[in-house]
Amino acid sequence: MNHLFHILLLLPLLLCTSCTQQMMRAQVRESKVVVLDIGHYYHPERGGQGARTPDKRYGNIEECEYWYRYAGYTARIIERAGYQCRICCRGSLPTDKKLAEIAILEGVHHVNTPEPNAIYRSKHHPHRMAVGMLSTNYALDQKPAAVVYLHHNSMTSRWMVYNKGAIYCNEEGTDLGLALAEVINRTIYDKGGMPNHGVPCGVIIRNDGRKGGGDWLNACNESYVPAAITEATFLSNPEHAKFLGQEQNAIRYAEAIGHGIVNYLKAR
Ligand SMILES: [Zn+2]
Repeated sequence: MNHLFHILLLLPLLLCTSCTQQMMRAQVRESKVVVLDIGHYYHPERGGQGARTPDKRYGNIEECEYWYRYAGYTARIIERAGYQCRICCRGSLPTDKKLAEIAILEGVHHVNTPEPNAIYRSKHHPHRMAVGMLSTNYALDQKPAAVVYLHHNSMTSRWMVYNKGAIYCNEEGTDLGLALAEVINRTIYDKGGMPNHGVPCGVIIRNDGRKGGGDWLNACNESYVPAAITEATFLSNPEHAKFLGQEQNAIRYAEAIGHGIVNYLKAR
């Protein structure tokens, strides 16, 4: 009797928690907004601060500059499918004239992080802290359906054929990760033109509290927002660098990310 009484007392609280959870999930599912985050930031003297090709032999690419150039192509695929897209970057408007021009044209929202390499706290889930968290604050303010962090990977500071690319995602973003990997496998890797020696794109759920990026995903997860980081390509892999160094391939890759996001949204 006593036991039952306690359960009855707790019931409204339990129902309420699951109710809030369901309401928040429903809000995310109804959202038509996708946020694309251009990885890293542009330093006024040193340029893009992401990974770059070891030298110019097989292409001269830096990931932040790359995504300034091509995130708009990803956005247009998403917009053409009837969704809204917002592009952001944790840094400030690039001092490079060409990149600044593109950023303005594409309406990139600059978060202007005071110290781009410092660790910041999530506004929405204050126990989550990471470098680059101010982008996630902006992203979650948009009440998004999904957040995709646009990156490339790099294994070493020297050239090396390495093929274990992956989409890192949060638990809510598992289907988003799978949809992105599916498009990359079908239209980019190997028969798509970027040699990957038959190794498929991985999907890795990252839920540890890494200050480098895991906690952006965790913060999104706690808002029930699917989120993924694109790390399917290696700038230190000469075969990937050669492929991405061609303008038409760079556009195709950016568009493939857009298609992956759209396929996910349509299947929700
Ligand atoms: Zn990166």
